[in-house]
Amino acid sequence: MRPLVVQKYGGTSVGSIERIQEVARRVARTASEGNRVIAVVSAMSGETDRLLGLARGLSPRPTARESDVVVASGEQVSAALLSIALHERGVKACSFLGHQIRIHTDDAHGRARITAIDGDRLCGFLDGGDGVAVVAGFQGVNPAGDITTLGRGGSDTTAVAVAAATSADVCEIYTDVDGVYTTDPRICPSARKLERISYDEMLELASLGAKVLQIRSVEFAKRYGVRVHVRTSFAEDEGTWVVPEESTMEDVLVSGVAYDRDQAKITLTRVPDRPGLAARLFSPIAQQGIVVDMIIQNVGLDGSTDLTFTVPRADTDKALEIASEVSREVGAGAARSEGDITKVSVVGLGMRNHAGVAAQVFETLGREGINIQMISTSEIKVSVVIDAKYTELAVRVLHDKLVGDGGATT
Ligand code: ADP
Ligand code: ASP
Ligand code: MG
Repeated sequence: MRPLVVQKYGGTSVGSIERIQEVARRVARTASEGNRVIAVVSAMSGETDRLLGLARGLSPRPTARESDVVVASGEQVSAALLSIALHERGVKACSFLGHQIRIHTDDAHGRARITAIDGDRLCGFLDGGDGVAVVAGFQGVNPAGDITTLGRGGSDTTAVAVAAATSADVCEIYTDVDGVYTTDPRICPSARKLERISYDEMLELASLGAKVLQIRSVEFAKRYGVRVHVRTSFAEDEGTWVVPEESTMEDVLVSGVAYDRDQAKITLTRVPDRPGLAARLFSPIAQQGIVVDMIIQNVGLDGSTDLTFTVPRADTDKALEIASEVSREVGAGAARSEGDITKVSVVGLGMRNHAGVAAQVFETLGREGINIQMISTSEIKVSVVIDAKYTELAVRVLHDKLVGDGGATT
């Protein structure tokens, strides 16, 4: 059986007609080398934001169902364009939308989870000799037959899930950087490219905001053992392999720094200090499908508490509405939200066995005069919320102190 390669091309990689021709060249070459090829594509760069903007131009809160129909069109266009570009090169190809290859998802419009993919259908197409399958990323179909989308960055997940469903030999993620780095190379010049990164560390980096891979794609890769190779579509260089954990990695105390600008902070003051109040606030928030990340509660001397928590920025209005209602009901102060924050995290499996990283994080930020608004730690990460305007500075100083040349000391 010929090897099966899944190649995912992100927004910048298909960002113009010339770039799409370049992608077609690479796909054609991979096929001519004797591989079966599935190309998964994102919308052209900027297109998803443009489409969301069109919908919001008509309504501050368009329904999730119609939003998905609008934004999914971006990937439809690039899939067909790549297919046309392949035909021009004399390569047989056919584009497929999510519902055509039965990428089944749940009902959660805007952040749907893939529940099943009909891998046999894709394999049947490839084995039938009809050329390259070009799949629109980011989209699926729910049990009612409606179009859903998988959340920002979701084409990564389409690619890895398709690779898992078809037992592909490799899933190549082509993007605008040449691999996974110790932190975002676009804001930290001393970031180092990693030859390999373990599934667990990649999961942690992705969950903390490193958008080079969507977190769900890494979950799929780990669960199904998909070999993922993150690399650039602008050159031929080898990128970064995402691999099962290897013990050597534990020798490094801190393996990376990640940041997340897509969070907002909601604060309630003067909340009566009574049993059940946290449930009263967070149950309706959970029912709305809003994922709360950090929570801080402080009991004041007067018997009331202040409560601060973070939510994805896109959910700020909904979360604030719920918080305001609960505030009114229980006689607390007015709830308020703040969007100008960034969560910065240092991550490393090696931190399991060492103390002292948190202290070094606080000292390093303190020396730069960066105020820490919230803190959370686990055995392999330390996260802080800071003012968004210090994002680049914080990432650079933390990286240089804890990861760069020699890294952290204990
Ligand atoms: P694509 O459109 O190809 O999916 P994304 O913009 O979603 O590309 O992801 C690639 C971007 O991820 C890079 O341009 C880089 O700025 C950012 N990034 C954040 N953290 C990292 C990291 N640790 N390593 C590499 N890239 C990172
Ligand atoms: N086009 C979608 C986005 O911008 C999905 C993706 O690119 O992965 O988030
Ligand atoms: Mg992406």
